[in-house]
Amino acid sequence: MDEARARILIVDDQKVNLDILVNLLEDSYEIAVAKSGEAALRAVEADMPDLILLDVVMPGIDGTEVCRRLQSEPGTRHIPIIFITAKSSVESEAEGLELGAVDYITKPFNPAVVRARVANHIRLKRYQDQLEALNTRDPLTGIANRRRFDRYLEHEGRSAIRSGAPLSLLMMDIDYFKPYNDNYGHPVGDECLKQVARALVGAVDRSIDLVARYGGEEFAAVLPGTSEAGALKVAEAMRKAVRALGIKHQHSQVADCVTISIGVGTGVITRHDQPMQLLEQVDAALYRAKAQGRDRVVGCQQP
Ligand SMILES: [Mg+2]
Repeated sequence: MDEARARILIVDDQKVNLDILVNLLEDSYEIAVAKSGEAALRAVEADMPDLILLDVVMPGIDGTEVCRRLQSEPGTRHIPIIFITAKSSVESEAEGLELGAVDYITKPFNPAVVRARVANHIRLKRYQDQLEALNTRDPLTGIANRRRFDRYLEHEGRSAIRSGAPLSLLMMDIDYFKPYNDNYGHPVGDECLKQVARALVGAVDRSIDLVARYGGEEFAAVLPGTSEAGALKVAEAMRKAVRALGIKHQHSQVADCVTISIGVGTGVITRHDQPMQLLEQVDAALYRAKAQGRDRVVGCQQP
């Protein structure tokens, strides 16, 4: 996140307050505004801000309820919220901070205080984003790690419930990787993992498709809005891409180069626990791909 271009969502039901805050902050930040709690939730859904300035007293969904809803969702819990309030009582401040707001600004606004508090929280958010990026990348291959995969699957599972679009999952495993490591040594094994990771990432062409190192020599992918036929096609492209690397493997019993086995599954998601169940089915399909001779793609529907 570039500090100069951080995105701030300002929520207030009164135009006069919005105007003051926009004037104060628009030179330094990208600003979006919402005039109700409902509009605020829609705005967050459409474009995740780095910080929210949130009026407490509004008709309909008020500020505390907006805060409560954003805090209850794993995808929006991390967005810092500064409450805007006319009430400067200790109780309302404590209540807001208990709800997860990071700070308070009170009306009438003191321009210097507003600017300073916003700048402080944007700095903290930037630091948090950097840590997040480090925590979600596999250090060896540079691609997404298991933690990022789990979160993305949860997030995409939720949007699949809303959209009704199918969700596809892939699990892939390098064939005979243990004998590869045992015979060529771990540094060569690491190099193999890096090349395979690059080949797998290169086989998907949409930015919404996520390929992750799941652990050891196992990789996994989330393909949102993808049919089973589409997912099988991507899996086959991955299998071929790894074979095309031509990494010599004299201790494989299926080929003289490194190959992978892939399990594929697609589901229409209607419940929150379904993506994890689908992942288990995909893992079982991967197991069958191994049992049936490796270097192949097996779908959940296939025996
Ligand atoms: Mg108000």
